[in-house]
Amino acid sequence: MRIENEIKLGFKDVMFRPKRSTLKSRSEVTIEREFTFLHTQKKWSGVPLIAANMDTVGTFEMAEALSKEKIITAIHKHYSVDEWNQFLAGKSDEFYQYIALSTGTGKADEDKIKTILDANPKIQFLCIDVANGYSEHFVQFVKKARENFPDRIIIAGNVVTGEMVEELILAGADIIKVGIGPGSVCTTRVKTGVGYPQLSAIIECADAAHGLGGQIIGDGGCKVPGDVAKAFGGGSDFVMLGGMFAGHDESGGEIVEENGKTFRLFYGMSSQTAMDKHSGGVAEYRASEGKTVKVEYKGPVSETVKDILGGVRSTCTYVGASKLKELSKRTTFIRVQEQENQVFNG
Ligand code: 5GP
Repeated sequence: MRIENEIKLGFKDVMFRPKRSTLKSRSEVTIEREFTFLHTQKKWSGVPLIAANMDTVGTFEMAEALSKEKIITAIHKHYSVDEWNQFLAGKSDEFYQYIALSTGTGKADEDKIKTILDANPKIQFLCIDVANGYSEHFVQFVKKARENFPDRIIIAGNVVTGEMVEELILAGADIIKVGIGPGSVCTTRVKTGVGYPQLSAIIECADAAHGLGGQIIGDGGCKVPGDVAKAFGGGSDFVMLGGMFAGHDESGGEIVEENGKTFRLFYGMSSQTAMDKHSGGVAEYRASEGKTVKVEYKGPVSETVKDILGGVRSTCTYVGASKLKELSKRTTFIRVQEQENQVFNG
């Protein structure tokens, strides 16, 4: 047994230190980013948020709405090939910039993505997603995907440490998804004791990825716009959101009325609810369990996007970053006690 004594941090453990700035208003902040991806050398520009590939968040309806905001939706893996073909009929070239096809690493997944990608050469992003990205089988799957789909931008995860980020990038992934256990409906930390505080995971994995010319997605644990800003400040190139994009018109999840209030169900992809719904297909996807919660109905997702981006823009003005790209360079985090942060968060 060994103990690592270095303190690792979550979003709640830090705040941004304000810095002198010449910016007059948050409207001066550019929130769009441009990336060139390592293996394909393809360029992408847009707002670097991603709706999570959960069936309550990464829906076709969400993709229609978020593409208008230049935000990517990682579309969940439970749509059939026919549903995909119908959905993509007549879509503009630009629309394809803002969707990712998600997959697990089973044989059936492999066959399905081949069919969808062969029929739809305009799909740019492939998101290979497993609960535990540390297995040799996963690395082999990423290698094979790189060979089979040389012109697609490959997202792979989830991992939380630099050496695994490097291994996956060298195996052919362009973007690494970072986060084990921080998700709002995830019970990995409770059921297994496994995890890594999300802000430290982001900082360490971004360093490893950027060193090789890759990018990362900070996935999970953002509850408020300030957390999204902290994820970017820590070095995330993209931030993936589940809970913050749940409960909208465009989200999935059963609608529930209770005491005159409207809720939508939101559940982890390895929760009982998801397993019942997708009968057996999900157990392999998430080795550990997830829970089911009711999220108060929030209306159209575009309002939430405004709220999140307003917050991030404001963070940028507080630290003097005129572009989101500069935010991590302008970031000094100060460590705080949890109670302190709760007071500040209201
Ligand atoms: P959130 O933004 O809600 O905090 O986190 C979303 C992320 O939680 C997803 O992108 C995914 O990585 C993770 N997640 C989704 N469902 C489950 C689940 O059932 N179990 C676990 N361990 N993680 C999940």
